[in-house]
Amino acid sequence: MADYIIAGGGSAGSALAGRLAQSGAKVLVLESGPRDRHPLIHIPAGFVKLLDSKLLYHYVTEAQSHLNGRSPVMPQGNVLGGGGSVNAAIYIRGQRSDYDGWAAAGAAGWAYQDVLPYFRRAEDNDRLADEYHGNGGPLGVSDLRQTSDLTRAFVRAAQEAGIPFTPDFNGARQRGVGFNQTTTRNGRRCSAAVGYLRPALQTGNLEIRTGCLVTRVLFDGDRATGIEYLRNGRLEQAQAAEEVILSAGAVQTPKLLMLSGVGPGAELARHGIAVKHRLDGVGQNLQDHLEFPAIRFCTGRHGYYGEDSFFRAIKNGLQYLLFKSGPVMSNVTEACAFMNVDDPEAEPNIQMHFVPIVFIEGETAPIKRAGATVNPCVLRPESRGEIRLRNADPSVNPLIDPRYLSAAEDMRLSVKGLQLARRILTQPAFAPFVEPTEAFPGAAMQDEEALQSYIRARGKTVYHPVGTCRMGQDDMAVVDPQLRVRGLRNLRVVDNSVMPTLVSGNTNATAIMIGEKASDIILGLRPLPPSNA
Ligand SMILES: Cc1cc2nc3c(=O)[nH]c(=O)nc-3n(C[C@H](O)[C@H](O)[C@H](O)COP(=O)(O)OP(=O)(O)OC[C@H]3O[C@@H](n4cnc5c(N)ncnc54)[C@H](O)[C@@H]3O)c2cc1C
Repeated sequence: MADYIIAGGGSAGSALAGRLAQSGAKVLVLESGPRDRHPLIHIPAGFVKLLDSKLLYHYVTEAQSHLNGRSPVMPQGNVLGGGGSVNAAIYIRGQRSDYDGWAAAGAAGWAYQDVLPYFRRAEDNDRLADEYHGNGGPLGVSDLRQTSDLTRAFVRAAQEAGIPFTPDFNGARQRGVGFNQTTTRNGRRCSAAVGYLRPALQTGNLEIRTGCLVTRVLFDGDRATGIEYLRNGRLEQAQAAEEVILSAGAVQTPKLLMLSGVGPGAELARHGIAVKHRLDGVGQNLQDHLEFPAIRFCTGRHGYYGEDSFFRAIKNGLQYLLFKSGPVMSNVTEACAFMNVDDPEAEPNIQMHFVPIVFIEGETAPIKRAGATVNPCVLRPESRGEIRLRNADPSVNPLIDPRYLSAAEDMRLSVKGLQLARRILTQPAFAPFVEPTEAFPGAAMQDEEALQSYIRARGKTVYHPVGTCRMGQDDMAVVDPQLRVRGLRNLRVVDNSVMPTLVSGNTNATAIMIGEKASDIILGLRPLPPSNA
């Protein structure tokens, strides 16, 4: 029998499983998706090609009243390594104040000085070595070896628009424009499955069962004893000697709790599920980043347009295999900018992802042209949504209602972010590459109302749902700062659903940090000494 059963082998679950198995504990990981064998997972440019594949859940959200009633898709990983196996590999941690805010809201022990040592312990950075960055950890973090002409133009154009260059988004200050570091090592993706699970398999302490959809937690009174899961259409069970840990991500972890009778009383009653333990916060507090593109078409062949055409794909593939260079080495989203659109000196409230192709969803026919896309998003949205059950069938996806833009402040900042994105595209650095007239939103869209309607029509997820099993100490908190489900024994949540608030940036590094820190908590080790940085 395993000591620990982990439901979900994604970013946080893999980091946790690896650490627990390395400590000598017997660990069983149950993952709904397949092994991470698909070759496109492991090459940086594979992200765009995988987006529509079966290696992701393509959740459809409820009709969003502030997005013209649209129901945008919210893709999430469904493969060993989770989102970290299929994401754009951008390595960003957020801001000091994100974590200090968590601690102030009741997540004792999760302030920036407490979590920074865990980011560093995870990290194996190929360029940076200082009080903010670690070397020799399981997670490869590397500079891009390939950047496109358009990406370099974006980095210059943002500086021309007044945003200073930064060599590091994860150091003393996040502010600035620069090239992303990525979760890669030697030109290959380093997901938590690659960095943590593969070495841990050598210990003989780790068993991974893929193709297993976890359906509920098993209890003896208030003590979690095991997991029930569906494999090849049959229900099976596994028992844990020590603990059951839910790491199925911010969409599925609250679903699993509710299917196990843990959640808001009325919601469980609605689906005829007996209440094991009432916790009204389960599924609440859903947060996500929403982005909307500013786009200019190119005057010639720039960026990566057409690099996946038959002959070019062969050439690029060979170049990658032989020389580890060329477009296949790119994660496509090669640069970002972080800035505050109200006060340029203040900590950023907007992030921009730059994509050196036309990257737009919702067009009936794909746009077959080279282009430059700047995607702004509000870093700390105030809108709050929820996850509920559609019915009591574990194989049915839950009901997801992010309530994007329901807070007026999110729309105010979105408009300012879009205005700045457009301004960057008009800077001299872009002039040799792009057409003088704007493709999207388009020259006709000028006043505030027009921009709002464009944002409602084009807003899409940045794939960062969090917060649905919030950590804290108040009545709506689902887990305590030790990540124990409040009021129950031997049951924890270790994934992005525990975030009290969304961090100011991409969410994979934080998921891995949560897995790292959880391993020390679960093993009863003293926390790493707080950082002075
Ligand atoms: C397309 C895409 C691009 C992204 N780009 C970036 C980026 O560039 N940088 C960045 O920092 N972040 C990025 N992210 C976000 C980041 O990858 C996620 O925030 C992170 O992976 C979340 O970690 P997690 O452990 O909470 O959940 P996940 O990594 O999603 O792990 C959950 C795991 O549980 C499994 N699972 C779910 N339900 C069940 C069940 N019932 N039974 C068994 N297993 C189950 C899933 O298959 C998955 O493997 C991206 C995400 C996506 C989807």
